Amino acid sequence: MIHIAVVGAGPSGIFAAAELLKHPGLSVDVFDRSPTPFGLVRYGVAPDHTKIKSVTTTLSKVFADPRAQFLGNVDLGKDLDLDDLRAAYDSVIIATGAPHARRLGIPGEDLPGNYAAADLVSWYNGHPLSGTPFTARAEAAAIIGAGNVSIDIARVLLKAGAGLRNTDAPESVLTTLGRDPVREVHILARRSVAEAKFSHAELRELEALADVDIVVNPADLELGAAASARCGASRAATARIETFRRWAARPSRGAAKRLHFRFLRSPTAVLGSNHVTGLRLQRNVVDADGALAAAGSEYLPVQAVIRSIGYTGNPISGILFDHDRGLIPNTAGRVEADLYVAGWIKRGPSGTIGTNKACAIQTVATLLAELSRQAHTGEGTSVARAARARLRAGLVTRLQAHPERHRRCVTWDGWTAIDAAEIDLGSTRGRARTKINNFRRLVTIGTQPDVARSAAAVAIRRP
Ligand code: NAP
Repeated sequence: MIHIAVVGAGPSGIFAAAELLKHPGLSVDVFDRSPTPFGLVRYGVAPDHTKIKSVTTTLSKVFADPRAQFLGNVDLGKDLDLDDLRAAYDSVIIATGAPHARRLGIPGEDLPGNYAAADLVSWYNGHPLSGTPFTARAEAAAIIGAGNVSIDIARVLLKAGAGLRNTDAPESVLTTLGRDPVREVHILARRSVAEAKFSHAELRELEALADVDIVVNPADLELGAAASARCGASRAATARIETFRRWAARPSRGAAKRLHFRFLRSPTAVLGSNHVTGLRLQRNVVDADGALAAAGSEYLPVQAVIRSIGYTGNPISGILFDHDRGLIPNTAGRVEADLYVAGWIKRGPSGTIGTNKACAIQTVATLLAELSRQAHTGEGTSVARAARARLRAGLVTRLQAHPERHRRCVTWDGWTAIDAAEIDLGSTRGRARTKINNFRRLVTIGTQPDVARSAAAVAIRRP
């Protein structure tokens, strides 16, 4: 049997595991720093996108195969090193995604009231290791960046309160967001409407937001010769422009909340002394090569600034990292003969959940070609395999019996106990699921499922 370690139990890691398991003679251990599987699907996809989140049913099927094992609550770089994995497995696939937000590099970016999209999204999705929660008492918030993550964030902020009850977001998130809902959300795009990255389906979804007026200044939609020439033939750009023109022509309905789209604006400073009070913006013109130049400045009063300008991956000690692109350089997924990458850490932060399937399939094909080459040349002898098996058994035993109880690893059985506990918790509040976002509680349930089940039963019986 050939044993592969996959680091990252998000969609790309699990798609890679599924592809590997199509081949008899392969087994896969999938590690994740979180006690729970599904990565970006559970913690990145917006909570109200329940249909996209339901892909977890397909991903779960992988762990019905006895050759697949989930080892959650295991942090690469803390609980084990890449060298441990390379010594114990025939090959390793890194699928750790791109969990960090890029920085703007402007003054005031660290003032309280600034949020990174990566932190905000993982917080409202209940990630147990997420950073700063959204605590701003913000009447108005600016979201910087013209991508789908900005739209997700705007929708979640504008749905705060009753609009999110049909999701699996933790109760604490619903309470915080509902307490002082943001009334004005400004999405700021540095380029023209033709060059925005919003997808059309995401834009159209905004029309269903209750009690929200979408505000677009028709003057902001003028393209100029350069943008028209660059984007003229694009069907996606044409559909997007038509939607924005329709919105710009619509009269205000006097709704309680407003979503403003402002094109050709770049932030140059976040203003405030103890907390964000506003943004200084540069009005842009874009030249024929796509370069931005200043055409004036403006002030925008806001109490929260969310930078949503793309994600970057985590470097891994001992391997090359491309800091500009936020990924591990590779050729069709191959980094070295026993080391591979899949997903956002391989190709950068782009595409839908489904894009990761094709990406993982390519990586696995590259890996299998290498294994087949090794089989022909006689590399990876049975003696080396026996040594690896001993190391692997030692590694898994060590992780499962870690002296600090709250750092023990969570297996698939442990995850099914967490899953059941979240469904139970949801049912007490008339919801299909309420996510648990407390790290220790997740690990306790995941490592002591029986204790957790009886505790949950007692809690549910209490009024
Ligand atoms: P994205 O699509 O790459 O958008 C990032 C935006 O940030 C761009 O508009 C970019 O402008 C802007 N930007 C970058 N640096 C900037 C700066 N210094 N100042 C101002 N603006 C800056 O990234 P994303 O929104 O994080 O999405 C990541 C991926 O996930 C995308 O492929 C997205 O489609 C996908 N996604 C899909 C869904 C869905 O299908 N439902 C939901 C969420 C995310 P420029 O174009 O000028 O660089």
